Amino acid sequence: VSATVYQPELLYAEGQLRRGASLCVTGEGKVQTRIPTGARVIELPGTLLMPGLVNAHSHAFQRVIRSRTEFIAQGHQADDFWSWRESMYAAASSLTPEDLFVVSRQAFLEMARAGITTVGEFHYLHHQSDGTPYEDPSLLARQVLRAAREVGLRIVLLRVAYARAGFQVEPNPRQRRFIDPDVDSYLERVAQLRSVAVGDDELVSVGLAPHSVRAVPRAWLEAIGKAAPNEVMHLHVAEQSAEVEACLAETRLRPVELLEACGLLHPLTTAVHAVHLNEGEIATLARRQVTVCACPSTERNLGDGVVPADALSSAGVALSLGSDSQAQIDLLDEARQLEGHLRLVRLRRNVLDAKTGAVDNLGRRLLECATVNGAKSLGLTSGTLAHGTDADFLTVNLTHPSVLGVPDEALLSAVAFSATSEAIQDVAVQGKFIVTRRSHALEDESARAFTAVMKRLSRA
Ligand SMILES: [Zn+2]
Repeated sequence: VSATVYQPELLYAEGQLRRGASLCVTGEGKVQTRIPTGARVIELPGTLLMPGLVNAHSHAFQRVIRSRTEFIAQGHQADDFWSWRESMYAAASSLTPEDLFVVSRQAFLEMARAGITTVGEFHYLHHQSDGTPYEDPSLLARQVLRAAREVGLRIVLLRVAYARAGFQVEPNPRQRRFIDPDVDSYLERVAQLRSVAVGDDELVSVGLAPHSVRAVPRAWLEAIGKAAPNEVMHLHVAEQSAEVEACLAETRLRPVELLEACGLLHPLTTAVHAVHLNEGEIATLARRQVTVCACPSTERNLGDGVVPADALSSAGVALSLGSDSQAQIDLLDEARQLEGHLRLVRLRRNVLDAKTGAVDNLGRRLLECATVNGAKSLGLTSGTLAHGTDADFLTVNLTHPSVLGVPDEALLSAVAFSATSEAIQDVAVQGKFIVTRRSHALEDESARAFTAVMKRLSRA
């Protein structure tokens, strides 16, 4: 297969915005600097071509509970989290394997249309509703992988370890679908998933995901740290202050201190949320080169708090972004809210780029969070369009009202601060278009199947 040369109006690659430059992609879907003779040329007039967005934290099935949780339930006035948690458990326990495929496919399709080329799926639905494993213990994970591959996304399936409701918390029967009996079974099931699901599919990989210090006890964390000292690993960390209090009560350590003691912090670790940190924990994350994945729309929706992205990035911690609960799927909005939430708290502007500089500096930084930092957080080389990396990219329609007329020097700021996802025109993964002119081949079929599942669930 020969190479293809894409000619947009502007190219943003390797941190440089250039007018009239083109992107060459090999037949294997890798970026190539040298343009060979005889390459096919595809013109993309009126567009900015840039790296595809990386959604580093997703629970695809939570698309089912979108907008159904925005109320305080009768009799639960004292617990504003009740309606969200109960809806999530109800969805988690009622989906059949085929439903999970249909629902995940719809979430992934919405991601593709929003310019997302890679998803890190933090997957914790493993077993039948009563906790019995399926004959194939990876059945549900494979449904999620099948959904991503049908849509065309690159996926890192972060297979969750879940042991318990919490420290001194009664077991909840609706968590049985998430729980593995012991840490050895967990590690075996991850290995089994890898062997049946990944094969030679370059678009699929598997990582580890001890759910949180609430749901996974210290002995499991230590065993996972020993068994997998250098693998892609994501964990929810310090999302709410109650988790920090419970961790202190159980171990006398704060969450990041506990993870450090268990050997779980290294450059392939991602701490998701990391809202409630002290200075020492921030320094530890920086020293261990851990990535923090912020999910601003979810943290806002759940009332978690604001990720201290300013303190983290001054310490040298890279930040990635996730759509998490799928209340909305718009990674550019996640990027701008990373900065926006800090402005509301710090009562100033340009919090994440406080030095004087170019008009698009902050925009670039936010786009890095949505691209290259996400890729790093998932152990991938995409996100920069540098020579030899994966050709995962999107085009922005420069005639879309949300970016129309913006001068080149402010264009990256316009994408980061103003572009709606309707401005994203084409999306390609490994050099193959999955969205062209805002349209995906599976849109109608997916919408029909998803609507049918939603109707059935709301009748149940
Ligand atoms: Zn999450």
